Amino acid sequence: IEFIQALPLLGTKNDKKQPELTEYQKKRLDIEETKKSLPVYPFKEDLIAAVRDHQVLIIEGETGSGKTTQIPQYLHEAGFTDGGKKIGCTQPRRVAAMSVAARVAQEMNVKLGNEVGYAIRFEDCTSERTIIKYMTDGTLHREFLSEPDLLSYSVMIIDEAHERTLHTDILFGLVKDIARFRSDLKLLISSATLDAQKFSQFFDDAPIFRIPGRRFPVDIYYTKAPEADYVDACVISVLQIHATQPLGDILVFLTGQEEIETCQESLADRMRRLGSKVKELIILPVYANLPSEMQSKIFEPTPPGARKVILATNIAETSVTIDNIIYVIDPGFAKQNHFNSRTGMESLMVVPISKASANQRAGRAGRVAAGKCFRLYTAWAYKHELEENTIPEIQRINLGNAVLMLKALGINDVVRFDFLDPPPHETLVLALEQLYAIGALNHHGELTKLGRRMAEFPVDPMMAKMLLASEEYKCSEEVVTISAMLSVNGAIFYRPKDKIIHADTARKNFNHIGGDHLSLLNVYNQWRDSDFSTQWCYENFIQYRSLRRARDVREQLVGLMQRVEIEMVSNPTETDNIKKAITAGYFYHIARLSKGGSYKTVKHNQSVTIHPNSALFEELPRWLLYHELVFTTKEFMRQVIEIQSKWLLEVAPHYYKQKELEDSTNTKMPKTIGRSTRTE
Ligand code: ADP
Ligand code: MG
Repeated sequence: IEFIQALPLLGTKNDKKQPELTEYQKKRLDIEETKKSLPVYPFKEDLIAAVRDHQVLIIEGETGSGKTTQIPQYLHEAGFTDGGKKIGCTQPRRVAAMSVAARVAQEMNVKLGNEVGYAIRFEDCTSERTIIKYMTDGTLHREFLSEPDLLSYSVMIIDEAHERTLHTDILFGLVKDIARFRSDLKLLISSATLDAQKFSQFFDDAPIFRIPGRRFPVDIYYTKAPEADYVDACVISVLQIHATQPLGDILVFLTGQEEIETCQESLADRMRRLGSKVKELIILPVYANLPSEMQSKIFEPTPPGARKVILATNIAETSVTIDNIIYVIDPGFAKQNHFNSRTGMESLMVVPISKASANQRAGRAGRVAAGKCFRLYTAWAYKHELEENTIPEIQRINLGNAVLMLKALGINDVVRFDFLDPPPHETLVLALEQLYAIGALNHHGELTKLGRRMAEFPVDPMMAKMLLASEEYKCSEEVVTISAMLSVNGAIFYRPKDKIIHADTARKNFNHIGGDHLSLLNVYNQWRDSDFSTQWCYENFIQYRSLRRARDVREQLVGLMQRVEIEMVSNPTETDNIKKAITAGYFYHIARLSKGGSYKTVKHNQSVTIHPNSALFEELPRWLLYHELVFTTKEFMRQVIEIQSKWLLEVAPHYYKQKELEDSTNTKMPKTIGRSTRTE
């Protein structure tokens, strides 16, 4: 049969044009179609039925199936929010909670913060009307303090369970307990990987609901030899792909904001030099502190003829799905917190990822079509050097915070808490000891009044103690500012490549001889005195965004200080008082200058070095307090202040003994100091 194209009949009804869709209608249609295309969609009814039939359900489905964005909507449509109850969904990462909430609000056509909202530390974007609430696992952990039975929720989804963050791990035990006496609460544990069996066992053999994924083949490439500089190798690989491979977006995994910015600059620079000879390359970063305006950019479709390259942290491994990725570049590293219970030291370091992680990363290339993953390590290294699985956080970090929270929830016997994988016994014991030394627990291991007040603050126990100690030292304004500045985990100082000298000079102007905490205080106070001006930030090479965040955090902290009835008083010239308050919180973090000119921690005699960015880098004071340790080539102390050893006896008399603070080279220190100044 031969077909010919039918001619339009002129002058008949058919001539009437279809009404043009408005931009708005197109967008709505587009959203509806996208929703229907997700792997979870065909299972909507089955899933709702399964939730009705079972109190606890384990959901397993590959990243990008629609678990996080769709399931809460399905349950809402099925009536689980009737009567004003909420559906909660936890995320291990802040960016994920924010971006997913934004997406769901858009899909439901509501304003973010109304029916759909999110809550992360120091930021609550929800309202009375909120019925779908995304939050970080840490935030839910804290919600238990004010609502121990989670009564306002009808459904709680512990999402990204495979990430096994400390908070998620503890939530498992908490929600399991609650489910026992709240039979109306539905519990969903959702995971991207094959841990489902393990979760099922933990939750008394709860049924597993599998969402079959769609996965296209991904070709894996390895380097012939190890790469010395993986950031540089990433840049080269991106350019190679761009020059030789068919169009399709690239996802690069880096370890943090700094690396991402270096890579971004270098790529932009080289693209500029290539000029119009090559197709357009849109470079987009994704990391925890990225402002939300920027976050939404990664989801915008790539213009025809161009290519997008996304430079992301681990967040893109499973938490956030970016569509249309065809190429993945994986250097094989991630940043991790590590705690050594023998030395009591916790530090952030860049470590090789696990095989499970590497495979998740590769999987990101095969969501929409066959893809390629370029591993910047050798096949041998993959086989012999990478661990099978990432060790859960609970087994490798300091548990002080977690134990304090459990105690505040009335769970006294933390050793017998129902852990999915229990932490090492010595880590738990050490956490108890530290909480005792800091005054949060009494010698029966019970929460003290101080400990109860500490638990009010969504910060680690040391910072909480420092905030509370500011009352006694009459410098709450200053300590709150310092805490806020330390809590901004993005960079404060801006250091563009072409203006390094200017930037460094500007930075030095803020330096305080007392140390970095006081320099941070300087920055904030001068910014405040400029009326929080953007221009001032620009002129002083300060990241405006970070300061704005510090101001938000500060406001929250001031609110909490009022809640624990601490008056806000200022005493900016009494820097010793400020430093004493800091020492009252961070007295575990003390290093002493030894004879060779290097630093050793006091209790465990570990070598540590002042970070070159510090105001005290060249000063080498005898006694130092550090805020955190960062391991790169060695253990660097980041953010340090000079202290006097006698303060340690004043603020932590049950932790430090006169004898261990004696210092043969320090003749100025009288032997009796400290005993009479004990204040508690
Ligand atoms: P899962 O939780 O199973 O990994 P998600 O529900 O996160 O899957 O993702 C489903 C889809 O929603 C993906 O195609 C993802 O790209 C899309 N998506 C998620 N967040 C956003 C956003 N903020 N903007 C646009 N699309 C998004
Ligand atoms: Mg998800």
